[in-house]
Amino acid sequence: MSQSFVTRFAPSPSGFLHLGHAYSALLAYRRAADEGGRFLLRIEDIDPARSKTAFVEAIFEDLEWLGIKWENPVRTQSRHIDDYQAALATLNAKGLIYPCFCTRKDIAAEIARSATAPHGPAKGQAKAQGSALYPGTCRRLRPVERDQLMVSEKSFAFRLDVEKAAQMTGPLTWHDKMKGEIAACPALLGDVVVARKDTPTSYHLAVTVDDAIQNISHVIRGEDLFHSTHIHRLLQALLNLPTPRYHHHKLLLDANGKRLAKRDQAQTIRARRHAGVSADEIVARLI
Ligand code: GLU
Repeated sequence: MSQSFVTRFAPSPSGFLHLGHAYSALLAYRRAADEGGRFLLRIEDIDPARSKTAFVEAIFEDLEWLGIKWENPVRTQSRHIDDYQAALATLNAKGLIYPCFCTRKDIAAEIARSATAPHGPAKGQAKAQGSALYPGTCRRLRPVERDQLMVSEKSFAFRLDVEKAAQMTGPLTWHDKMKGEIAACPALLGDVVVARKDTPTSYHLAVTVDDAIQNISHVIRGEDLFHSTHIHRLLQALLNLPTPRYHHHKLLLDANGKRLAKRDQAQTIRARRHAGVSADEIVARLI
């Protein structure tokens, strides 16, 4: 038994789980079982506009039906806001975050003005490059202007000054099961959002803090999150947290070669169940 071998499945309750989620959950669950380790479930519900209790119930039901067992209590992000607030305060004390008042429209206009705006990594093969990175407009605000806007603006984001942060930590690496030792390249995603005025966290911050609090030793998740790991590695170094090992697995594709999405109802676990497919058949097909 290796109780220090800990994996997790961390769905957002914004829809029904599909076969791609089942694959990810089964990989993490099987890996923990093979190693005599632990498997945890985490509900990533920090986005109140998209998260629904009904989907949380459905996640439990679908995973149970697949034969997956997890430890209780389940960590639910919305109940741990204090943990993210503390991490945000640490980043703030290091002078690494700044408020950003730009709307999507402002960002698009600023990018259009600059012919050489840097772009993030491509998400699909069809696209030559990813979307343009945040151009750093609010990083350059004068302190008095910044203070005024913080009082007058109803909603705004907090961004991480990635270049300054990377200078502070120096070079970092992390390990991926499929690709080996990786040199962290957090600048690939630009100055990511780490919190909002009304929610003191973002996906990047919450996932980094939670993986540490839950002692996750092996993060197993889809390769769509591969580039996010550059940021997570940077946040681990800044917050003095351990670095798990990573396995970014291939994504399941539909008949047209497109990755499965929560809106494809036919690919959900419950749609398969209602169509008479057994859990054993799904597991056998996936793993
Ligand atoms: N909550 C994320 C999602 O549902 C997954 C986060 C992770 O595995 O790191 O896509």
